[in-house]
Amino acid sequence: MVGILSLASDNLERIRQQVSDHLDKAEQVQRSEQQTQALMDSIAKKLKQEDAVLVAHYYTAPEVQALAEQTGGFVSDSLEMARFGRDHPAKTLIVAGVKFMGETAKILTPNKRVLMPTLEATCSLDIGCPIDQFDAFCNEHPDRTVVVYANTSAAVKARADWVVTSSIALQVAEHLNQQGEKILWAPDRHLGAYVKKASGADIIAWDGACIVHEEFKARGILDLKRAHPDAEVLAHPESPDSVLEIADQIGSTTQIIQAAVSSKASKFIVATDQGIFYKLQQAAPDKIFMIAPTAGNGATCRSCANCPWMAMNELEALDRVFEVGGNEIFVEPALAERAMLPLERMLSFKATL
Ligand code: SF4
Repeated sequence: MVGILSLASDNLERIRQQVSDHLDKAEQVQRSEQQTQALMDSIAKKLKQEDAVLVAHYYTAPEVQALAEQTGGFVSDSLEMARFGRDHPAKTLIVAGVKFMGETAKILTPNKRVLMPTLEATCSLDIGCPIDQFDAFCNEHPDRTVVVYANTSAAVKARADWVVTSSIALQVAEHLNQQGEKILWAPDRHLGAYVKKASGADIIAWDGACIVHEEFKARGILDLKRAHPDAEVLAHPESPDSVLEIADQIGSTTQIIQAAVSSKASKFIVATDQGIFYKLQQAAPDKIFMIAPTAGNGATCRSCANCPWMAMNELEALDRVFEVGGNEIFVEPALAERAMLPLERMLSFKATL
C-alpha cells in the first residue's frame, strides 16, 4: 500500500508541474464588454441552431455561468449538471467543466452527443488516480467497500461499489459504517479524512488532493477573521483539516451557497474556487464574500482559488465548440454500463434521504 501511495504523491508533483507549465503558457484573455457580448450572442445562436444546451459548473467564469442561465441551460455541481443534461430534451449537451463531468454526463445520457470546449480540462484528483494503480490498491483490500468521489475517470468509477459527491459523502460513509462495512476511499485524502473523522467509519484513503483547495491556509483565514470578526468561514471538505477545524460550516458547493443564504451572518470567508462567487452574489446579493487566503507571506501559489482547468472553458473555446473536432466525449459502452451501477446506487440512496 505504501508503494501505491507514494506513486500517487509522485503523480501530484507531476500534476503541479503540468499546471505550472500550463499557466506559464496560458494567455490572459483580454476583451472589451462589447466583445464579450458579441461572443455570448454568437454562442447563444449556435446553441439554438444545433439543438444544444449549455451546462456549466459553479467554478467556471461568471460570463460562462451567465450564458448558461440566459440560454435555458444550467449552473450547478457535477452531479446536478449531469442530471439536468439527462432530463433536458436537447440532442447535444455542452459541458463547461472538466473532463470527468463530461464523462458522467455521457454515462447518464449515452444517447446524446456530449461536447466540451476542450478535453484538456482535467482535474488533479482524476489524473492523480490512474486506474491501473487504483485497481492494484483495491485488490490489496478485497474486504473493503470501494467508495470513489465523482472526480474520477469512468474506469475508476467502474471499479467502485459507490460513487459519491461531496454533498452526500458523509451520509454514505455513515450508512456503510452502520452496516459494519469497512471503506476504501479515493481519491481525495482531505475529504476522506473529514468523512472518517465525522462518521467514525473505518476508512483507508488514496493519497490524492485538489490543487486548488489544498492551498487554503488556516493561518491566513485566522488573520482575515481578526480583521472581520463577524465573518463566518464556509469551507469545502476538499480543504485541509486545519482549515476545516476553523470553519463555521463545511459543505459541497451547493451546500455552501445554501449556508450563505440561510445564515444570519452578513460576511463570509469562503474556502473554495472563486468561481462560486457568481452564484453566491446572485443568491445573497446583500452579503459580503471574501476569498479565503491561499498562501502565507512569500509563498508562490499558482492556482490560488482558481482552478486552471476550469479556466480553460473560455467563451472563445465555447464559440468554437461545434467546429473544433476531437472534443466529443465517448465512453466505451461496457465501461459506461459498469460505471452506471455505483452512480445509480448513489442516486437511489440520495432519493431515500
Ligand atoms: S477545483 Fe480541484 S477538484 Fe475541482 S476540477 Fe479543479 S482540481 Fe479538480
